[in-house]
Amino acid sequence: MSQVPVVELKDLDLVYVTDREAVLALEGMNLSVMPGEFISLVGPSGCGKTTLLSVIAGLFPPSRGEVLLHGKPVAGPSPEVGYMLQQDYLFPWRTILSNALLGLELTGRLSEDSQAFVLELLEGMGLGGTADRYPHQLSGGMRQRVALVRTLATNPDLLLLDEPFSALDYQTKLQLEDLVVDTLRQRGKTGILVTHDLSEAIAVSDRVIVLAARPGRIRSTYVIPETIRGAQPFYAREEAGFNELFHEIWRDLESLEGKGE
Ligand code: ADP
Ligand code: MG
Repeated sequence: MSQVPVVELKDLDLVYVTDREAVLALEGMNLSVMPGEFISLVGPSGCGKTTLLSVIAGLFPPSRGEVLLHGKPVAGPSPEVGYMLQQDYLFPWRTILSNALLGLELTGRLSEDSQAFVLELLEGMGLGGTADRYPHQLSGGMRQRVALVRTLATNPDLLLLDEPFSALDYQTKLQLEDLVVDTLRQRGKTGILVTHDLSEAIAVSDRVIVLAARPGRIRSTYVIPETIRGAQPFYAREEAGFNELFHEIWRDLESLEGKGE
């Protein structure tokens, strides 16, 4: 039986219309992401990575073409899709637990069971003792973990991650990469990660998609070899072939910069 992709883009264009101009941000995008797959998007600043995630999240409709989730056109934001951003956007006046429960509250699904699930997630992310604390009492890495718990709380099967690790110090970032990848793999989630860190993209993904800018479009796709994929992100960077692949994709990215894109 053939599987239905979790996300499918068909000839997708996205035009931003402002009062002064129309910007073609994405052009002719075709992409399928299969259940349980984890892919990364890399490319120069302004090539449309955030725009693409926003369209997949249903925040605005495509100008042309289609975005399908589980085979059905996206009609708007859905609880099946979790969206995590670079900044944690925790509310300073809410406790950690009440921040983590926000998505459940907003979607009217707060119950004893769902709250127990969130407490379990906090525990699993090493945040067990923090439920009654406030965001300012936590480190940046801990706050990003709370944001991840909040994203997972509604049990989405697709996670969209827009540079979630880029504001963290290197060690925290490596730990969080491990945690996120483990969590998603264990729970069979599908993930799309935007990152400007190429080694991160290679270390955590099944496929790395390189985008070109103006208009944003898919330039190339790299399938990550099994040996690198099977290793935890931290160790993947030391696997044979990692450096060669890094340089190959790096050259690809550099040629984009070279053309002034
Ligand atoms: P990336 O995340 O890859 O840096 P973005 O998706 O943020 O790129 O932006 C893609 C292009 O769309 C850029 O040229 C940007 O200036 C433009 N853009 C992004 N958001 C808007 C908006 N709300 N209105 C008009 N143009 C936008
Ligand atoms: Mg962006």
